[in-house]
Amino acid sequence: AAAGEMQDLVVIGGGPGGYVAAIKAAQLGMKVTCVEGRGSLGGTCLNVGCIPSKALLNASHHYHDAKHNFEKYGITVGDVSISVEGMMKSKDDAVTGLTSGIEGLFKKNKVTYSKGWGSIPKSGEVKVALSEGGEETIQTKNILIATGSEVTPLPGVPIDEERIVSSTGAIALKEVPKHLVCIGGGIIGLEMASVWSRLGAQITVVEFLPHMVPSMDGEIRKTMERQLKKEGFKFKYKTKVTAAERNGDSIKLTIEPAAGGDAETLECDYALVSIGRRPFTEGLGLEALGVKMNRGMIEVDHDFKTNVPGIYAIGDCIPGPMLAHKAEEDGVACVETMAGKHGHVNYANVPSILYTHPEVAWVGLTEEQCKEQGIEYTKGTFSMMANSRARANNDAAGMVKFVAEKGTDKILGAHIMGNAAGELIMECALAMEYGGSTEDIARVCHGHPTLSEAVKEAAMATYDKPIHM
Ligand code: FAD
Repeated sequence: AAAGEMQDLVVIGGGPGGYVAAIKAAQLGMKVTCVEGRGSLGGTCLNVGCIPSKALLNASHHYHDAKHNFEKYGITVGDVSISVEGMMKSKDDAVTGLTSGIEGLFKKNKVTYSKGWGSIPKSGEVKVALSEGGEETIQTKNILIATGSEVTPLPGVPIDEERIVSSTGAIALKEVPKHLVCIGGGIIGLEMASVWSRLGAQITVVEFLPHMVPSMDGEIRKTMERQLKKEGFKFKYKTKVTAAERNGDSIKLTIEPAAGGDAETLECDYALVSIGRRPFTEGLGLEALGVKMNRGMIEVDHDFKTNVPGIYAIGDCIPGPMLAHKAEEDGVACVETMAGKHGHVNYANVPSILYTHPEVAWVGLTEEQCKEQGIEYTKGTFSMMANSRARANNDAAGMVKFVAEKGTDKILGAHIMGNAAGELIMECALAMEYGGSTEDIARVCHGHPTLSEAVKEAAMATYDKPIHM
């Protein structure tokens, strides 16, 4: 470790916010140490979040495709079966490969990796309780807090990570549930439920609000909800779970109407608590330092500075969308500013992606937000059913939708449901970052046959007429 040597920056937390900030700072010429306590780099995202969930979504999609769709293409594979153990191993291999890859990047960029839990006794000093025992104290000019987030617990529903699981348990089940109740219809819950639904589990989503994923555009959400119901998802909206009782392999959940009323019982063999995540800042000593907090989040200014000189914060532990790519952007902008450059993150243009099949991706304002904000808008939609590539792929569920400013045609929001929506959304985000219009997108020559032609045609539909619909 770097004990004894004055550092320019100590980053506490090795997640996508912290490790990216550490590498960028080293590239900018700073002497950097990154402190991480969990035993591997990559944070929530690589270890128990984005990557393992996507590995399982990919594997379960292949299984589902082989079982239900291959025959349509004239492919016979006989009896398709699943080994949960094999699927978990392939997921673990993906995770290990990527987390050790970051260690390699640290070495390449000369970032010192201090393994242990960090705290801040005073500005300019980080104390690390080392994983191998003992402790070290590092003197540093700047400290960056990137300690991320943790699962929000639900009172009355104690998580045991066996039968009553958080997302962390849900990516490591040993068998396919018969009936999985997903408490909370947000992005993480729907992704985990999709994995197990494809492998044969019956899914019930219990959601407090009147609909799933509240940040999604309403029109797209309705289309997506229909799709999930077709796959067998059941939704119980305006309902809250108030208690859980585990009896061996079975769980009894007590549910009540959100507005109050008679309680009912819902039985299942697995329950997933996915009501959200909350900032994690425990053990850092922030209270004693007088770091200003707001509802558990660290308060920062435009340059990611806390109210205490020399202490910065980024990622899931500060306000803004709790997403890995947002944490990374925060990290880069923060250390660029620290180095005397001009870092900036445009929070209005951060894409969100639901990695089900089909995917849903969106950036900017929804139609509902335009209405709420009294913005006059035009909109254009295009169905994936009218896109030749989607039809050739036999994978044509979904649509593309733009909302643009009336009069100027400036893109305000883009919303895509369809295979590879997460990739397709990026040309929309790029256009929006440049202040582009739907006509700007429509006049770019798009390759044929590609799914991206649906984006082009939805853009055409916004300021003029599409060709293929
Ligand atoms: P984290 O990734 O939480 O990293 C913080 C790190 O700090 C942790 O490793 C922790 O051990 C360490 N730490 C904390 N305190 C200390 C301390 N005192 N000393 C030393 N180390 C400490 N986001 C996406 O963008 N796309 C997705 O597809 C996606 N899927 C997800 C799926 C799931 C199941 C989950 C749970 C999350 C998902 N997310 C996704 C969210 C994403 O994981 C987070 O937004 C992202 O990891 C935040 O990065 P971070 O660096 O701020 O914090």
